[in-house]
Amino acid sequence: MMRQFELVELVRSYDPNADEGALNRAYVFSMKAHGAQLRASGDPYFSHPVEVAGILAQMKLDCASIITGLLHDTVEDTVATLDDINRVFGPEIARLVDGVTKLSRIELQSDQTKQAENFRKLVLAMSEDIRVLLVKLADRLHNIRTLRFITNDEKRRRIARETMEIYAPLAERLGMQRMKDELEDLAFAELQPDARNSIAARLEFLRDQGATLVPRIEAELQRVLRDGGLAGASVAGREKTPCSIWRKMQRKSVAFEQLSDVMAFRVLVDNVGDCYHALGLIHSAYHVVPGRFKDYISTPKPNNYRSLHTGVIGPERQRIEIQIRTRDMHEVAEFGVAAHWSYKQGVGNTEGPQYRWLRELLDILDHASGPEEFLEHTKLEMFQDQVFCFTPKGDLIALPRGATAVDFAYAVHSEIGDTCVGAKINGRLLPLRTVLGNGDQVEIITSKAQRPSPTWERFVVTGKARARIRRFIRTQQRAQYLDLGKAIVQKAFRQEGCEFSERPLEAVLKTFNCAAIEDLYVAVGQGLVTGRAVVAAVFPQRQDRAKVVSLARARRKAGHTDTAVAIRGLIPGMALHFAGCCHPLPGDRIVGIVTTGKGVTIHTIDCETLENFADTPERWLDVAWSNNDGETAHVGRLNVMIANEPGNLGSLTTVIGKQGGNITNLKITNRSTDFFEMMLDIEVADVKHLTTIIAALRANPVINSVERARG
Ligand code: MN
Repeated sequence: MMRQFELVELVRSYDPNADEGALNRAYVFSMKAHGAQLRASGDPYFSHPVEVAGILAQMKLDCASIITGLLHDTVEDTVATLDDINRVFGPEIARLVDGVTKLSRIELQSDQTKQAENFRKLVLAMSEDIRVLLVKLADRLHNIRTLRFITNDEKRRRIARETMEIYAPLAERLGMQRMKDELEDLAFAELQPDARNSIAARLEFLRDQGATLVPRIEAELQRVLRDGGLAGASVAGREKTPCSIWRKMQRKSVAFEQLSDVMAFRVLVDNVGDCYHALGLIHSAYHVVPGRFKDYISTPKPNNYRSLHTGVIGPERQRIEIQIRTRDMHEVAEFGVAAHWSYKQGVGNTEGPQYRWLRELLDILDHASGPEEFLEHTKLEMFQDQVFCFTPKGDLIALPRGATAVDFAYAVHSEIGDTCVGAKINGRLLPLRTVLGNGDQVEIITSKAQRPSPTWERFVVTGKARARIRRFIRTQQRAQYLDLGKAIVQKAFRQEGCEFSERPLEAVLKTFNCAAIEDLYVAVGQGLVTGRAVVAAVFPQRQDRAKVVSLARARRKAGHTDTAVAIRGLIPGMALHFAGCCHPLPGDRIVGIVTTGKGVTIHTIDCETLENFADTPERWLDVAWSNNDGETAHVGRLNVMIANEPGNLGSLTTVIGKQGGNITNLKITNRSTDFFEMMLDIEVADVKHLTTIIAALRANPVINSVERARG
C-alpha cells in the first residue's frame, strides 16, 4: 500500500502547487472513516482508496481528483456524510465525492447486458464533471485488479461483465488506451478463462519459437530509420493483448494460426514531419500490406487519437503492424482525456477548473470529421439532453431531458400511458407531472378507469405521449359532440312538434356542407349549426315560430331523464364542462347551457348565473347524470367561517379528511381578529358525499357556519 508521504511526493512531482495539507487531511480522514473495515483480500479496506488515489496520481490528475479518490467510498460505506466532507474539504470535493457515490449506486440497479449502450450513456450523463468519471474508472481498475479475492462467482462475473461492457468502452471513448487495455484484459480473463488461457499459451509458444523475434525486428526497424536520417526515433515492439486477439478472431472468424500480425511496433518521433518521413522510410524498405494504411494525424479519431497506422511484410518476412506518432501524441493515446487535462492545466492557471473538462471534451469533439465521427459527436452531445430511468424490473428507459412520469409511462407501453394515474419515483408517490432525473426508478400506477387527460398535453415532452393524448382527445371530443348534436336536433324537432327521423336530414346535408349525418350532428354539437336551423332546412315551408321557453319551465323540466342527455366520460376541458360558479356534483339537479364553439357548460338548477340565459331558451339543454360515473372525482365548493383560534384550521381539515374529502384549494376570503372566512374546494364523489361533509362540519363546535357556494 502506498504510504501517505509517497502519495504526496508523487502528486507534488507533477504539480508543485498541490495542496499538501488537504491531501494529508483526506488521507487521514479516509483512514479513520474506514477504520477496521477489511477488503475481500483481507487487506484493510483503506488500502483501496489509497490505491485508487495512486492510480489517479499516475495519470497526473489535479489535487481535487486525488482527494476524491481517497474519499470516494466514505459516504457510501462509512458513517461519514457529505456534510462532513463539505465542512472539511469544501464544496468542490463534496460535489465530486457525491458524483462518484451516485455512480456507484446506479451500478447496482441494472444488470442487463443488452442495455450496455444505454448504461454507458447514463454513466456519461451522470458524470457532470469528467473527474467524477476518471475517479470511477480508477476505482473500477483497482477493483478488477483485485477481483480474484471475491469468492462469490456471480458477483465476480457481474463486475467483469460491467467492466467489459461499460467501463472499458468509456475509457476508450475518453482515449485512455492503457486503462482500456487493462480493464478489458482483466475482465476477459474472468469471462472467458479458457479462451484467454489458450491464447496466452499460444503467445507463449510463439515467443519460445522465435525468442528474439521482437527485439530483432525492433533493431532492424531502428536501423532503417537511423540510416534514413531519423536518429531520434525510438521503436518498441509488443504483443497484442489476448482480448484484442480474441476480438480479431471473432470478427474475422479466423483461427489463431492464421493470425499472423500478433505483433505491433510503435515508432515515436519528435514532430509531425518526422512521422511522415518515418512512414516513407518504412514503406520504401518493406512491402506494404494493402488496405492497412490509416492517417489519423490529418484526421484524428473523435477521442483525439492521432497516429499513422500501416501494415508491412517486415523483417524476418513477418506481417507486422506499425504505428507512427510523436511523443506528445503518444501521451494522449495512452492517457486520453487525462493526459489532455494535465497538459493544459499549467502551473498557476487561475481559471476555475470546473468547466475545463467540458472545454476539453468539446475540443476533442471539434476534431471529429466524417460521418462516423459525426455520429459519435452527436451521440455524446445527446447524452447531456437525456435522462435515463429504470423500471422496477431494472430496464433502462431513455427519455429527453424534462420528461415526466407520463412520458415514462408512454415510453414503456401506450396502454400504460393511457391508463396511468400516479407514479412512485424512488419509492415515493408523486404526481404524474413530476420531471424525472437521471437514475430515477419509476413505477407507474395504472387504473382501468383512467383515460388520457388533456391537461397532460401541457407537460409531456415526448412525441409519442403527445400524439397518443391528442388522438385520444380528438376521438373523444368528436364522440361527445356527436351525442350532444344528436340530442339537440331531436329536441329541436320536438319543440317544433315534428316527429324526429334521420331520413329527411340526408336531403339537407349539402346545405350545411356536411358529408354524413354524423358530421351534421358534430357541427350542431360544436354549436356551429343550431338545432332550429336544421329543422328549418328540413321543413322550409313551416313558419319559424319563436318558442318562448320560460326560465321556470326550463327549470321544471330539467332533470327529467326521458329527455335528458346522459353525461358520460366527464373529461374536463372538453365538450362538456362544469360551471365554476356553482360546481355541480353528481346528484345535483343540473342544466346545460350551449356555448358556440365550446360545447356545453353544466350548472346546478338553482345557480344564480342561469338568470343570464333566461332570454335564450334555445341554449338550454336538459341533462342528467349517468349512473356509471362513480370513478371520477368532482370538486364541490364550500364557504366556511371558523373562529380565529389556534388549532381550528387543523380541526377543519381533520373533519374533511375523516369523511374522505380531499381539499384541492383553500382561500381565505376574509380575515378578522375573531373569524376566518374561507372558500374550500373539495374533491368528492357526489352531492351526497358533500352533504355528509357539510353535516360533519356543522357538528363540530369550532366551525361557525358552512354553506355550499352558489354562483
Ligand atoms: Mn471504491
